[in-house]
Amino acid sequence: MTTITILAGGVGGARFTRGLLAHLRTADPSASVTVVANTGDDLWLAGLRVCPDLDSIMYTLGGANDDERGWGRKGESERVSAELAAYGVGWPWFTLGDLDLGTHIARSAWLREGIPLSEATARLAARWNLGVSLLPATDDEVETIVTVASDDDGSPTKDMHFEEWWVRLRASRPALAFTQRNVAASLPAPGVLEAIAGADVVLFAPSNPVVSIGTVLGIPGIADAVRSTPAPVVGVSPIIGGGVVRGMADACLSAIGVETSALAVAQHYGARSLGGLIDGWLVDEVDVEAVALLEAGGIRSAARPLWFSSVEETGAIAAAALALADVGHSGG
Ligand code: GDP
Ligand code: CA
Repeated sequence: MTTITILAGGVGGARFTRGLLAHLRTADPSASVTVVANTGDDLWLAGLRVCPDLDSIMYTLGGANDDERGWGRKGESERVSAELAAYGVGWPWFTLGDLDLGTHIARSAWLREGIPLSEATARLAARWNLGVSLLPATDDEVETIVTVASDDDGSPTKDMHFEEWWVRLRASRPALAFTQRNVAASLPAPGVLEAIAGADVVLFAPSNPVVSIGTVLGIPGIADAVRSTPAPVVGVSPIIGGGVVRGMADACLSAIGVETSALAVAQHYGARSLGGLIDGWLVDEVDVEAVALLEAGGIRSAARPLWFSSVEETGAIAAAALALADVGHSGG
């Protein structure tokens, strides 16, 4: 039985995993998949714990995602949000749909009883038949804070929650830094280190390298587990032809001094043989010239189309990532 562990953010991670599962259904039905999800975007809002990336993965794999909009529940309504806005509670620009609120209320109820996020996530996931084991990177509240240049109040910089920068400001104010509040004392959630150490292959979904994968890797112990796992570690580029595919990942990459290119992101992760994090990196066919450069630098590489144009095509991309890790065959 092949065991596969994926580090993932929200939408990119969810779509990639859905494709991988479609591929495995025929290629390797006994394979077992664990997704380690970013929790840096999580926040308390209107008294509720909201976990955007965990929920994107849960809804997408559970068949409940609004694929047209890209996030949230399909068939959603916003009656409760309108009531909250009338009371001035929450963020009017951060929509909480009525069905989605059910998830947040259930999760918050469990968290208030002292149940850890990983257990609350398992209880939510049990309803949806995801076909994966879904783990938060950490049970601790480690939120991504963005530092931007201040415009108004005289202080040189201003800190805000990632979601405020991303959703309200659409990443329009240049980020000076990303920090993970409370990260030093945080621990990987139960099962995370074991899932990385015990996998046959570890995959980096084509998720945001800074605020999704970077945040997961920032939890103490996780990057070391990736460096030391006996499994090959292969990533799929979230950057195609020097541009972001969907979203605004370039605004995050420039803040950490990494060029928006498939090559630069791979070099940012680094070759495991040289103390880095990845053994392989799949790039789009338009970035084929990166392949030889990566191979020369100790990262196995291949080029193929990387657009998630359908679930089947995404499955073929996932299969190519497994092939790069040399675990593309059934059984194992
Ligand atoms: P978020 O947490 O919802 O922002 O989602 P992720 O961090 O998991 O993924 C966002 C990233 O997915 C974006 O920055 C894109 O670069 C990447 N992405 C989205 N669609 C595609 C696609 O069709 N192909 C590839 N290769 N990457 C994609
Ligand atoms: Ca996210």
